Amino acid sequence: MNTSGLKAEGTQWDLSELYSGPEDLRIETDLAETRQRAEVFAHTYRGKIASGQLDGSALAHALAEYEALSELEHRPSFYASLLFAADTQNSKAQQLVQHTREAATAIANLLVFFTLELIALDEEQLPALLAAPEMAEYRHYLEVLRRFKPHTLSEKEEQLLNQKHLTGNSAFEQLYQELTGSLRFTLTVDGEERELTDGEVMALLRHPDRDLRERAFTTFLQTHANHSLVLTSVLNNILLDHKIDCELRHYDDVVMPTHLANEIAPQTVEAMMQTVERHYPLAQEYFRLKARLLGIAKLKNTDLYAPIEAEVEKIPFAQARELIVTAFGQFSEPFAAIASDFFSNRWIDAEVRSGKRGGAFCAAFSPRHHPYVLCSYNGTSRDVATVAHELGHGIHYSLSRRQNLFNYDAPLVLAETASVFAEIVLTRHLLLQTQNPAARRALLCGLLEEIYGTVFRQTALTRFEMVAHQQRRAGHLTAEDIGALWLQEQEKLFGSSVEMISAYRWGWTYISHFIHSRFYCYSYSFGELLTLALFQRYLDKGAAFVPGYITLLESGGSQRPERALAQLGIDINQPEFWDQGFRMIKGFLDELQATL
Ligand SMILES: [Zn+2]
Repeated sequence: MNTSGLKAEGTQWDLSELYSGPEDLRIETDLAETRQRAEVFAHTYRGKIASGQLDGSALAHALAEYEALSELEHRPSFYASLLFAADTQNSKAQQLVQHTREAATAIANLLVFFTLELIALDEEQLPALLAAPEMAEYRHYLEVLRRFKPHTLSEKEEQLLNQKHLTGNSAFEQLYQELTGSLRFTLTVDGEERELTDGEVMALLRHPDRDLRERAFTTFLQTHANHSLVLTSVLNNILLDHKIDCELRHYDDVVMPTHLANEIAPQTVEAMMQTVERHYPLAQEYFRLKARLLGIAKLKNTDLYAPIEAEVEKIPFAQARELIVTAFGQFSEPFAAIASDFFSNRWIDAEVRSGKRGGAFCAAFSPRHHPYVLCSYNGTSRDVATVAHELGHGIHYSLSRRQNLFNYDAPLVLAETASVFAEIVLTRHLLLQTQNPAARRALLCGLLEEIYGTVFRQTALTRFEMVAHQQRRAGHLTAEDIGALWLQEQEKLFGSSVEMISAYRWGWTYISHFIHSRFYCYSYSFGELLTLALFQRYLDKGAAFVPGYITLLESGGSQRPERALAQLGIDINQPEFWDQGFRMIKGFLDELQATL
């Protein structure tokens, strides 16, 4: 068997369209130029917006310049963050992250007045301004911005918070990232002691050897536990920082800033989460079925992702590319064409390297520049699904490039709409290709495990995060406190169907979302359930579904999720809508049962 390219060796992204390297002189010139333009901007517009000295057309002109400045300001720090993700141990990249972030903060501070004045505009001033035709594309941005009006402080206070953020929240995030990125995991595999990266050790959770899976995850968690002093302190500070932030900004609910940013009503999210929690027995049904498939009495949580077939055939990266492009093409030609661009233009970094950031992501900073994808490809079918997932994000970003910068990013709850859809498209393509019951079982298990990890697990993670924030209000949490909360929330999900290994009390330490973006996890549950419902529509309507779906992706963040979905005939405030997603899951379970 030709195994060349099995781990995507040599598939590194090409960042030269941004800058030629960390020492590219254009980084400094760009920062200096942006700073200068920001100074001129501040000189031109400060005090003129809220006082009503600009008409609609002049305001649109100012917004266009502000948009250009925001993009320029982010370009160097975006580049630095990609360099750092590709090699977290590269000291030049570390320095550049720090330097460009500081420079961007200084520029952002010059511009803070602008959004504050937009927020300060009186309700009566708005209609006349919005009447100008040039303002049409900024209407939604103004709405979104002004939703934070009751929670925005004075210019001086906002500047101070921004500056202190560098040594506060942002410093803890960086510390967390550097520490977890530097961890190596010592494990005996096939009688040989090896030093593994986080990507490599976590990949062993899908290894056929049950004992190895448990040793791998235990080592992974214990290695984190060795740093419990730092990790506990980081989480406590992140929780406390958010508590202070919420108090300063008059939020009575710690999740509210996320809901506002997501443009979604708290009760919609709560209804969704409760529906998921009501369906925990469905996840437990899968775990019991999986135990039967593995021929064991009861699953441990290190068995959740165990392969059910003994032989695991690795998929070379080139074949993964072929599969993905073909599957996407059967759904929609533009999907396939955009995915191909990522491979042929080197917008994807897929090879496994020491020091590379764990996990996978797709990143973009401007509608005027294409997105990038990073992952660590190990050749498993799970890795193929991950590539499809991230390319789904890439397609979403690419389609919404027709939007301006403010309307470019989809709200979080819609951010997974294309990525999860892309994964299901891939799996369905593979299911249609094979009638072999064993192969179908493997695919359905893969799909159901993805659904478990997204819909069910992410809801349990969000509940944990909510409880942790609540408890932190009463004071510092010890590692034991956090571990107990963590296990308590996981137990609700697993019930009696899964036994958690003892080291799992450290499971909270490696969920970077708790550190980097508060309450992000519910958007995974939301997005996946939503996508399951959308996919059901696609199965019902066939090709007629595609144009409306593409329009949804093209709309990026230009409208509220509720409104964007209403155009597809979906009402997210109806509980039946969420139940529809679970009927789809039940269908997959029945299909799996039929292969037995
Ligand atoms: Zn995603």
